[in-house]
Amino acid sequence: MSGELNRRDLMASLGAGAVALSAAALSGSAAAAEPPAEPPAVYELPKLPYAADALAPVLSEKIVQIHHGRHHAAYVRGANAALAALAKARESGDMANVKALSRELAFHGSGHVLHSLYWQSLKPGPPAEPSGALREAIDRDFGSLDRLRAQFAAAAKAVEGSGWAALVFEPVAKRLLVLEIENHEKLTIWGVTPLMVCDVWEHAYYLQYENNRPKYVDAFWTIVDWPSTAQRYTACVR
Ligand code: FE
Repeated sequence: MSGELNRRDLMASLGAGAVALSAAALSGSAAAAEPPAEPPAVYELPKLPYAADALAPVLSEKIVQIHHGRHHAAYVRGANAALAALAKARESGDMANVKALSRELAFHGSGHVLHSLYWQSLKPGPPAEPSGALREAIDRDFGSLDRLRAQFAAAAKAVEGSGWAALVFEPVAKRLLVLEIENHEKLTIWGVTPLMVCDVWEHAYYLQYENNRPKYVDAFWTIVDWPSTAQRYTACVR
């Protein structure tokens, strides 16, 4: 194990209070010239649950690689940077940038959460349909699968600018809803659990579908991972 890993393990074992410790403090005078140690990352980029080319032809290998490896990764970095800056603000007592950092955290943190679910919402293979308890809830709350699809597709196609369509579980009324999300963090209902999401930022489709978002949304529906969506629903109502 390298010295760097030892240091990171030690800091992790010491908890949040170790974040302020510098590399010099941990490794003696020889490290005095080293830059301050970065705090351990809170968020990490998850691996794709399938090969990057597995969703073709609906989503090309290139679009998945760029979307995951550059865009999603940038939200992970952004969320970690916001958390690190907020930790420094608490340490110094300088709260001048808390408003801007809170916005950064909401934007990048929500971007990370939604992208992580986006990859889980998709699966290679032939189109499938929801079944079991999820299908019963869809029929109850939307009238039928066709009506859910019509509303979900209309929402995804209509999102103003960059955003998402989301099938969510709302725990107060204990029912399914479709929400439009602007950017990553706007227009939600607090407390909902997103079950399946469609990214309609241009980076999700433009390389392959150019400005034809409706064509992308219709193709997206054919690769929805209904079994994993059903598992997430079951976890909400258990
Ligand atoms: Fe995206």
